[in-house]
Amino acid sequence: MSAQGHIPDAGLGCHAKDEMTQAARKAGASEVLDRYAADYPQGPHDKPQSMCPAFGSLRVGLRMKRVATVLSGSACCVYGLTFVSHFYGARRSVGYVPFNSESLVTGKLFEDIRDAVHELADPDRYDAVVVTNLCVPTASGVPLRLLPREINGVRIVGIDVPGFGVPTHAEAKDVLAGAMLNYARKEAEAGPVAAPEGGVSDRPTVTLLGEMFPADPMIIGQMLAPLGLAVGPVVPCREWRELYAALDCGAVAAIHPFYTAAVREFEAAGRPIVGSAPVGVDGTEMWLKNIGQAFGISQEKISEAQNAILPAIRGALAAAPIKGRITVSGYEGSELLVARLLIESGAEVPYVGTACAKSAWSAADAEWLEAHGARVKFRASLEDDCAAMEALEPDLAIGTTPVVQKAKERGTPSLYFTNLISARPLMGPAGAGSLATVVNAAMGNRERMGKMRAFFEGVGTGDSAGVWEGDPNIRADFRATNLKKLEKKARAAKAEEMI
Ligand code: SF4
Repeated sequence: MSAQGHIPDAGLGCHAKDEMTQAARKAGASEVLDRYAADYPQGPHDKPQSMCPAFGSLRVGLRMKRVATVLSGSACCVYGLTFVSHFYGARRSVGYVPFNSESLVTGKLFEDIRDAVHELADPDRYDAVVVTNLCVPTASGVPLRLLPREINGVRIVGIDVPGFGVPTHAEAKDVLAGAMLNYARKEAEAGPVAAPEGGVSDRPTVTLLGEMFPADPMIIGQMLAPLGLAVGPVVPCREWRELYAALDCGAVAAIHPFYTAAVREFEAAGRPIVGSAPVGVDGTEMWLKNIGQAFGISQEKISEAQNAILPAIRGALAAAPIKGRITVSGYEGSELLVARLLIESGAEVPYVGTACAKSAWSAADAEWLEAHGARVKFRASLEDDCAAMEALEPDLAIGTTPVVQKAKERGTPSLYFTNLISARPLMGPAGAGSLATVVNAAMGNRERMGKMRAFFEGVGTGDSAGVWEGDPNIRADFRATNLKKLEKKARAAKAEEMI
């Protein structure tokens, strides 16, 4: 057992980044934290501003066939994560190994996790069991790496996904995808592995990185066919065997650009990585060229593939124009692709904010967007997104829940990125026309939003929002006292800094 004597307060969490990081480093987690810092560079903001990052990896595990997931963390975190998983339609139970200060201090928690894993590891039911350390067990150094690698043929994958090391839930998907690919790569190197249930393609394949609308891989497959290529699995995969097929590709398309750990595994397997995605005319043209070159395909054949698809995309874009100014922000990793499509549809997009970090695989998209008048902000904070929306006064704000809420308060039409934009095809001709319907309908709502705003004008806001029988009970004297306290605290902190 590694040192588990540096126990952070179990009540600390997302809002105590520094304390948790210090505790985790003292408990021997420096290696993993350094790797995360390199894989998922932070700044300008360094705290998750969306849901708990562990939701990303949890969801990846829950969507895989014959994979059991177990969380180790504070009960409140696990409650929240389980709730959100079922809200998003998880059809499986989330395993939980509870702990208290004593079991954390004595190392009993690790033994409890090991017992739970042994109990779960039934090869008739599972290919793998994923155990995830949330913030407190990570900060306490609960050593998941000491779990058996395999029990009765069931693989055991332990990961740390602390909110103080993994900035977004998108990147947490990469933590698990990378860990699974690493495991599968070592299995493949050690000897023959099982073929996927759907069989193996007779053509060289392109593995797709990033969760996407189910029709997108099919559309990409049609675009690849003239090149003599086929579409391979989508990573994160839906079953363990797909991991081998994913690794066995000819090239990897980093459709979502934040899969750093997964890319590391593909590179270790000797696979080239191609950034951006086949969105719109320019995006598709460039992507087919880059894919063709990665496979050493002749320029003539690449042009054939481009000519086979680009007229259809041009036609779809022309048939579904978008007019108006739109700001785009989100935390899914596909924000830049959506913005490209909007611009090619005719929209003006002055701002694109993504919570994900800059990477080599979104560089071409950022360059294209900037050349078309958009300011691209990587690791954008909620404050950046809201400030852009307020300053640019768009006809439509596409964003996360709090951005959408703020836009509504201002009477600006808005669309929630995750549910309304991510849930549509983006690639090829299908993607070209798919955004216009929802975007144009939302922009047409401005007048209605204005009426609603006028109707609710004067209704309480902030801490006086809600239903009140009489006037909100605002205690100006309490506020003044509290303000004095805060000022005193700030002065004391400043004085301490100067010592
Ligand atoms: S596990 Fe998630 S919800 Fe819990 S403290 Fe960490 S980041 Fe916050």
